[in-house]
Amino acid sequence: MRLRNIPGAREVMTESPWTVNEPQELKGKWREHFGNSNPLHLEIGTGKGQFILQLAALHPDINYVGIEKYSSVLLRALEKQDEAQLPNLIFIRGDAELITEYFEEGEADKIYLNFSDPWPKKRYAKRRLTSREYLARYNVILSREGDIEFKTDNRDLFDWSVEEVPESAFEIIRITYDLHHDPSMNEGNIMTEYEEKFSAKGNLINKMILKRKQKE
Ligand code: SAM
Repeated sequence: MRLRNIPGAREVMTESPWTVNEPQELKGKWREHFGNSNPLHLEIGTGKGQFILQLAALHPDINYVGIEKYSSVLLRALEKQDEAQLPNLIFIRGDAELITEYFEEGEADKIYLNFSDPWPKKRYAKRRLTSREYLARYNVILSREGDIEFKTDNRDLFDWSVEEVPESAFEIIRITYDLHHDPSMNEGNIMTEYEEKFSAKGNLINKMILKRKQKE
């Protein structure tokens, strides 16, 4: 994702009806905000919004929140949402590191992580959205039966993430190293922007689904 500084992007964010400027104020009140008691699904690192817009259009009975760190990228998602006007979709321009300040314990029912930044240098491993530190944050905000879906073409990040899972409250319940040729896991798959780009180059797409470890 090219991070250009688009003049005025911040202002568009604050004025858009599709962004929440103070997500901390909605902590524990997201369902109230949407005006229903539907499940709440999050996409972290939502980028230009292709995936979450399609999902939200397909599932009007689920509330969606897309979280993206950079205004210049999120701007594109807001332009699409301006056209689509989906009442069950809203965005946060914010850092996932603060996710436990945005959502109450057990408030979210699903988290999507799509083509998360790999942060290849070891000293930045904690910034990877599948690190044990992030998994601990997701453990706070996810409901009891909540799950996490992660996909990426980056095999190094994927293998590293597989090894992080046992260090968390979660376990892997489904995994594939070639999503597009795995009929059951690929059923209903919605391609993200990065997924389209990298699978067109011939890269295989990895995916895993995590749930909380079953207590013995
Ligand atoms: N999910 C999209 C896709 O699959 O096409 C975009 C993938 S892009 C490689 C990763 C996105 O995650 C970028 O837009 C980046 O700004 C965002 N991101 C990275 N770290 C983040 C964080 N801590 N909080 C929120 N967004 C983050």
